[in-house]
Amino acid sequence: MEFEPVIGLEVHAQLLTRSKLFCGCSTQFGAPPNSNTCPVCLGLPGALPVLNRKAVAMAVKAAMALGCRINDVSIFARKNYFYPDLPKGYQISQFDRPLGEQGRVHVLSGERTETGKIVNRQEKSFGITRLHMEDDAGKSIHEGTPDAGQKSYVNLNRSGVPLVEIVSDPDFRSSQEAYDYLTDLRKTLLYLEVCDGNMEEGSLRCDANVSVRPKGWEKLGTKVEIKNLNSFRFLQRALDYEIERQTKVLSEGGQIVQETRLWDETEERTFPMRSKEEAHDYRYFPEPDLLPLKLDKDWIAQIQSALPELPGVKMQRFMAEYALSTEDALLLTASPSLADYFETCAKASGNARVSANWIMGDLAYSLKNSGKDIEACPIPASDLAALIRTIDAGEISGKIAKTVFEEMVRTGEPPAAIIKRMGLVQVSDEASLSSVIEKVLAANPKQVAEYRSGKTKVMGFLVGQIMKETKGQANPQVVNDLLKRKLAEA
Ligand SMILES: [Zn+2]
Repeated sequence: MEFEPVIGLEVHAQLLTRSKLFCGCSTQFGAPPNSNTCPVCLGLPGALPVLNRKAVAMAVKAAMALGCRINDVSIFARKNYFYPDLPKGYQISQFDRPLGEQGRVHVLSGERTETGKIVNRQEKSFGITRLHMEDDAGKSIHEGTPDAGQKSYVNLNRSGVPLVEIVSDPDFRSSQEAYDYLTDLRKTLLYLEVCDGNMEEGSLRCDANVSVRPKGWEKLGTKVEIKNLNSFRFLQRALDYEIERQTKVLSEGGQIVQETRLWDETEERTFPMRSKEEAHDYRYFPEPDLLPLKLDKDWIAQIQSALPELPGVKMQRFMAEYALSTEDALLLTASPSLADYFETCAKASGNARVSANWIMGDLAYSLKNSGKDIEACPIPASDLAALIRTIDAGEISGKIAKTVFEEMVRTGEPPAAIIKRMGLVQVSDEASLSSVIEKVLAANPKQVAEYRSGKTKVMGFLVGQIMKETKGQANPQVVNDLLKRKLAEA
């Protein structure tokens, strides 16, 4: 019997506000433990929450970009549970009436080959069940302290930080689809400037629900929730592992236990964390300290009209305007900064194809080596464009351009200054090249004779000698023409 996986993702994204969801405390990552706290986010009795308007605006933007219906009235609700890093004893979340519902996204998703290459990309459509707002809990620290093992610590800096939870429909039929959806979602949040998408710092977190069922069946199998998926790679590997595990259990006539499992990267497997009680026992009820959240229609319209060009649209435009392939356009729109860099360079150089090649080739390589991303790129896009124009105008050769590029990375100087300082201008002047050619011909009588006897292959050798003599600065086209003429003369 053939089985198919059914996967849904729950993504928590931290909104890029400077203050928390219900108080004025800073959201800065890495501040000294418990320094960004106040009676509200410490859950002290009598402290009252006040909603952060910017956080709501960001959540609305995200909901719009994901095609959700925006509810003009949504309700904050208490989600009750006990945990040492949750001093209130509840999270303020949304339950019956979330901010956004019934969204849909269109994602280019492919298949992964044995070598890890993605092929057969096609547009697939995935449903979004809901998007709601909630405040984050604090963080328990069990490791990395001098008395770890005897004591655990609690850091409440994160307590009250604004999150949106984005719940997808169970629409993914492979780990690759889930991976492509999450990649696309992260990209969208980056473009909207509502989340920094940093999985390592926990500003984007992902849990997955996975079940497996006989192919063709309507009914869903028993699902398992996997937590701790804090990188794209972990997500894919955990899903692959879990699909295989469940398929094996079912093939052998066994049953899947509904439970929460954790992904262990060192052991490369999931293991049970706790079994899930029949129904969630969060005892949700409307938050008595907050009024229903009513959104003004004009305010929603204002946000709608200020939405930026979204990654999918930008990608299609890049393909149409700059004749890029799907893969190149996907890569160059990976972040808004990279897309801007490419577009600035393509426009200023007048050569989109070569701009794309430099950015995805030498520039990407150099950034990777220095551990920088495009925001910290030492070469402004306008300087890379100037370099490309210099090559296109025949002022320097492609080979010299690589030297100039390396020097641009090292010093941050514009290409013209480097070419001048290092004396790298391409020599196209026939008179000065003539004397070099004659010198090389005189030094290589044997090869000259061979050429004249019809062995024209030796031409390559002679051009090489001339390039060497001019330290690579001779214009190869001019050298070729001149050399042919001179060899034909005698
Ligand atoms: Zn606070």
